[in-house]
Amino acid sequence: MARPHAMTDRPTPARPDRNAPTEAAREALGWLHTARFLTTAAQLNQLPALEVPEIAFVGRSNAGKSTAINTLTQQNQLAFASRRPGRTQHINLFALGRQGTTDAVLTDLPGYGYAAVPLADKQRWQRVMANYLVTRENLAAVVMLCDPRHGLRELDEILLEVIRPRVEQGLPFLILLTKADKLNRSEQAKALQITRLQAGGGAVMLFSAPKRQGVEDAATWLRAVVDAAASPSDAA
Ligand code: GDP
Repeated sequence: MARPHAMTDRPTPARPDRNAPTEAAREALGWLHTARFLTTAAQLNQLPALEVPEIAFVGRSNAGKSTAINTLTQQNQLAFASRRPGRTQHINLFALGRQGTTDAVLTDLPGYGYAAVPLADKQRWQRVMANYLVTRENLAAVVMLCDPRHGLRELDEILLEVIRPRVEQGLPFLILLTKADKLNRSEQAKALQITRLQAGGGAVMLFSAPKRQGVEDAATWLRAVVDAAASPSDAA
């Protein structure tokens, strides 16, 4: 009889893939994948009044907002396609919901801080964004995209101040630290630590589109926010 293999020759036991999405994440990603373009608005007063929960995505231009929206919805062109020339300053709304129903909306607000934009335009957009964040009645959450290599910058801080009262009243707020693949582990830990101090009670997650880091956690967070915002009669 052949000698049994030495202990070290044992095949690696099958074990659950640590990177496999949880059931909740799978459900959330499937739901996010239903995203489709709803409408675009050049001004706040052109935005349709909506009953469904709305999640706003904000961030400096180049922070990785379009990439994050495309990654979360698993649609390569969703956020880019609606950002045609001349429309970069528009507010773009995407509907979410299975079988053509809409149970939530993602709102892509114009990126701010682009150096080439004249000061007057920057100030105008600061006002529009502040107005939106303060007055939008169905706003259920705000997601701020931030490149951790630069950290929160002045315009991010201004928006944070604008939404702080709503966050203190319970508005869910998430800062996604994008491009996490560009940081090593200790830089990631440091960025998380610093941003958590600045987030005023909001959640902070690392996010990388190419590595798919944080995608499931962010998707699960978004789904949970919408579930929580659904009216009690819907939940029954
Ligand atoms: P936006 O202006 O905020 O919409 O930013 P974009 O999504 O257009 O991204 C700006 C740049 O950052 C592009 O060159 C993207 O390819 C890059 N980028 C975005 N997300 C990531 C990421 O997670 N990792 C890396 N390495 N690059 C990213």
